[in-house]
Amino acid sequence: MGIAEWREQLRRGEVSARELTDLHLARIGAVEPAIHAYLEVTTERARADADRIDRARAAGESLPPLAGVPLAIKDNLCTKGIRTTCSSRMLENFVPPYESTVTDRLWRAGAVLLGKTNLDEFAMGSSTETSAFGPSRNPWNPERVPGGSSGGSAAAVAAGECVAALGSDTGGSIRQPAAFCGVVGLKPTYGRVSRYGLVAFASSLDQVGPFTGSVADAAELLQVISGADSRDATCLQAPVPDYRAALQQPVAGLKVGLIRECFEAPGLDPQVKASVLAAAEQLQSLGCELVELSCPRFNDGIATYYVIAPSEASANLARYDGVKYGYRSEASGSLAEMTARSRAEGFGDEVQRRILIGTYALSAGYVDAYYKKAQQVRSLIRRDFERAFASVDVLLTPTSPSTAFRFGAHSEDPLAMYLADLLTIPANMAGLPAISVPCGFDQQGLPIGVQLITGVLQEELLLQVAHQYEQAAQVMLRRPAAELVP
Ligand code: GLN
Repeated sequence: MGIAEWREQLRRGEVSARELTDLHLARIGAVEPAIHAYLEVTTERARADADRIDRARAAGESLPPLAGVPLAIKDNLCTKGIRTTCSSRMLENFVPPYESTVTDRLWRAGAVLLGKTNLDEFAMGSSTETSAFGPSRNPWNPERVPGGSSGGSAAAVAAGECVAALGSDTGGSIRQPAAFCGVVGLKPTYGRVSRYGLVAFASSLDQVGPFTGSVADAAELLQVISGADSRDATCLQAPVPDYRAALQQPVAGLKVGLIRECFEAPGLDPQVKASVLAAAEQLQSLGCELVELSCPRFNDGIATYYVIAPSEASANLARYDGVKYGYRSEASGSLAEMTARSRAEGFGDEVQRRILIGTYALSAGYVDAYYKKAQQVRSLIRRDFERAFASVDVLLTPTSPSTAFRFGAHSEDPLAMYLADLLTIPANMAGLPAISVPCGFDQQGLPIGVQLITGVLQEELLLQVAHQYEQAAQVMLRRPAAELVP
């Protein structure tokens, strides 16, 4: 059931918010041992949220747009009074004294908090394997990763453990796990959504967005979380259009660009390629014109990202010094030793690797060779997109070169893991909105995602094309539900 349908049933009194919440809590109880999507389930809070909605309805009050919708929140978004760990020992016991803007807007819109979801530590990874609290599993096949870094949120939606979830996307962390888990994942335009209360990874790239079972539900969540925020200076002032209204517009006559470099990408699984090309043909049958084009700098995104993102991360993570908050080593010694030990014990390997790379790239003598160069290539990637959007309305690529891989498949080789983001990173580099929509399955029954990208602040067009495709293709009539519960 979609959010719009749910809203109508709740309004008519056919079902209560408490029933919907309890249904999801029961589902969590049944499948969490196999999936581990959540780090914490906030049962009492969820029931209290739901009961409040039911009382408001009984009293005849008008209900807000997400009244009674049970949500899961990635555990790098601050929730007041509820632990926010970033899947790190460093923040294992951190209870934020404030609420992030996005979650605050969701609760004001009547949504119910079910719990906080697992992620790669500090959102650094593509599989949830770097979580200090153990990985999440893919509901389609528990021997496979759910993707990452927002793997817990993607798995929770796919396994029916919530109606929708929030994640964050710095280089693909919403779209890639959405593709791996067969759900919809949307990264908005940089600045469309406030970052206040999102624990910072790479501030020029980070953006919060929804995971949902349908494009229409993604529009519902984006509607609520978007818009200016005086507490985030990078948040755009642009008015928020009616995203739900945009869905129904026909797509005939639109030009869809297929980026040649993406379909020739190294390591692109032929089954993924075929499925994504079939999605393009589906759009063609709806009246879109397919245009092949070239973005020569697209495949440089990954090298650029792995200079810029660790550089920004090294600066952002300097705040974890064992003094102000977070983990503090018990070992005795000088202040400098205490800080060094706290960081060595509190951060996992991948986070330490990123801090080292970033500190190196920013150090005197190297900053021009690495960081500045990367920023220049970033401008070239942005220019590639500008040129592409001069001739097409929307770009179409695979979301990920492969379907969900096995646990440990890339653990010996961080570079192989980094390649999982090849096709998602360019949109972050240029600050563009992009969405992953399920488009098929491989021979092993693992979901495949198609990525659509539009120009800055063109979320309406993005959602419209994604929705029309989804309605025509009807890919997700299959759900992983049944196989899950032993
Ligand atoms: N997988 C990428 C990384 O490891 C992207 C992460 C993200 O988008 N947060 O950095």
